Amino acid sequence: MQVERAQKAASQDATASALLPLSIRGLTVTYGEKPAVFSVDLDIQPARMTAIVGPNGAGKSTLLKAALGILTPLSGQTLCFGAPVKSSLNRIAYVPQRASIDWDFPARVIDVVLMGLYRELGLLRRIRDGHRQRAMHCLSRVGMEQFADRQIGQLSGGQQQRVFLARALAQDAALYLLDEPFAGVDAATEKAIISVLRDLRAEGRSIVAVHHDLATVQSYFDDVVLINTRKIASGPVAQTFTPKLVQETYGGRLPTMIES
Ligand code: ADP
Ligand code: MG
Repeated sequence: MQVERAQKAASQDATASALLPLSIRGLTVTYGEKPAVFSVDLDIQPARMTAIVGPNGAGKSTLLKAALGILTPLSGQTLCFGAPVKSSLNRIAYVPQRASIDWDFPARVIDVVLMGLYRELGLLRRIRDGHRQRAMHCLSRVGMEQFADRQIGQLSGGQQQRVFLARALAQDAALYLLDEPFAGVDAATEKAIISVLRDLRAEGRSIVAVHHDLATVQSYFDDVVLINTRKIASGPVAQTFTPKLVQETYGGRLPTMIES
């Protein structure tokens, strides 16, 4: 009986996790001795915008990279729609933190967006007119089509961020992971990005963004994950983004902000 019940529970778990864009269990990551991410369990809900919030050095970027397998965790597993992340990378688009990219890299804007299509370009990497048209369409969604032939290094921070979002759009993913997409961008770019992310959500795609601006968590996001090496809390913004939990996340120092 007990075995049957356990089997039934396990299969229900498997069915449930098959619906989740991301399901993380027991994730621990260390660079040296001290863990940067410790024993995190996290379920990301489909067709929602989820913010990952926590102080500098809290392990937010590390969590994304380890979940994607860019970093090897000390322990833990991540499933993407019930399958190991390694076999699901074609369903995930990742936009790294802008500061971590080498902007002297010589590439035109259109080429950066075409890189988003590389999985379907095939072994010969042959770019056809259809690919170019799709890349241009993605650039127009972020208001950057007139910059297609510019060198990426010659753009402003906000423009670079729009191009990286266009590359993510080209990937046509089910899950978008963005690391501080609004950091260092102008107000017009922030508006453009949030509007594209809302469109993606309306199409049933899931968005997870590391977010540093506590003042906009409530207006931008559906769910929030509070993290400071450990997960402090996660859930719908209304229940989770409370002064008490935010204060706990920031180690007692309540940063400027929550609108009550
Ligand atoms: P966040 O994105 O929340 O600011 P990170 O995930 O970048 O935090 O970093 C978490 C912790 O791990 C920090 O203490 C940081 O200094 C450390 N760390 C991040 N990357 C490395 C690395 N490549 N080598 C060593 N330590 C690192
Ligand atoms: Mg970071």
